Amino acid sequence: MINEFAKTHNLKKYQVDQFNIGYYKTLISSFDELSTWSKQLREDLKKELLFSKLTVEKTETSNDGSTTKVLFKTGKNNYIESVLMRDKSRNTVCVSCMSGCPVGCIFCATGQMGLNEILDEQEILDQILYFARELKKENSSITNIVYMGMGEPMLNLENVAQSIEAITDTDKLAFSKRRVTLSTSGYVQNLRAFLGKNLGVKVAISLHAPNQKLRDILMPNVSKNNTLIDLFEVLDGYVKDTNKRITYEYVLIKGVNDSISDAKELVELLKGRLALVNLINYNENGCFEFKKSDNTLLFQDILLKNGINCTIRKSYGGDIKGACGQLSVNYI
Ligand code: SF4
Repeated sequence: MINEFAKTHNLKKYQVDQFNIGYYKTLISSFDELSTWSKQLREDLKKELLFSKLTVEKTETSNDGSTTKVLFKTGKNNYIESVLMRDKSRNTVCVSCMSGCPVGCIFCATGQMGLNEILDEQEILDQILYFARELKKENSSITNIVYMGMGEPMLNLENVAQSIEAITDTDKLAFSKRRVTLSTSGYVQNLRAFLGKNLGVKVAISLHAPNQKLRDILMPNVSKNNTLIDLFEVLDGYVKDTNKRITYEYVLIKGVNDSISDAKELVELLKGRLALVNLINYNENGCFEFKKSDNTLLFQDILLKNGINCTIRKSYGGDIKGACGQLSVNYI
């Protein structure tokens, strides 16, 4: 964050270290609290850099208290949403990498917004730091970070990768790589480049269909130019090199992709692959006619009986439209 500032002010390494300790580890809530720096340097910092590029416009907490959704405004007056989900000892933050999303998957509220803005590294980090500071007030901390909010990370590759480097950097947030998950709809070329960076985070693929034809319908913008054949070529190579399991997210939509034959086709697609299927109950979001499936347990059963690891994702924050596929700021 302060690379340029450090250069123009000829900061010594120990001063950069002091900044990183205060900003990322002590989680100061303003530059005034950076007491290891001189008053003059703090004043210069305040003049030249924003403590956060995002401003909080609104916070909402679900009735059961488990989920807090925050509406942020960017410097360009666009809006994004981020979500904190609490579950026993886990505090998972879901971050956005764009305002809106250009991919336009036909079941996703965010996709209906189109793309407003691509976030930079700092704007992605600001979301995480906001929740880290809030949790610190409760003597708690973030345990997991998922890149599953608004936007397609592979269409914002460099900023997303830099933000991951910052959160896992031992001099900064020092977050465990194993507790960071990046979810992508599968832009093959950029996914290959991302995996080549060896950032060590978990990878989840938004699959949502057991075959090319249905994927072309549900996720037309990404699917047609990034076929399942090409996608699996990249993923199979990654698994071969790293022995890391890929998670496949599959949102179950009634009468669309939730039949017994869909489940059997998914088994065939993933058989022999190091895979975990994470079934997501469709969150009705008021934008579409799609309905939640009644077949979730049956679908899971077919996968499990055929040797495919399969879990059902717990849904958080449906009452505040903070659940998967519901993030949208069209009410502003
Ligand atoms: S599902 Fe993901 S990639 Fe598709 S439109 Fe929504 S945010 Fe974009």
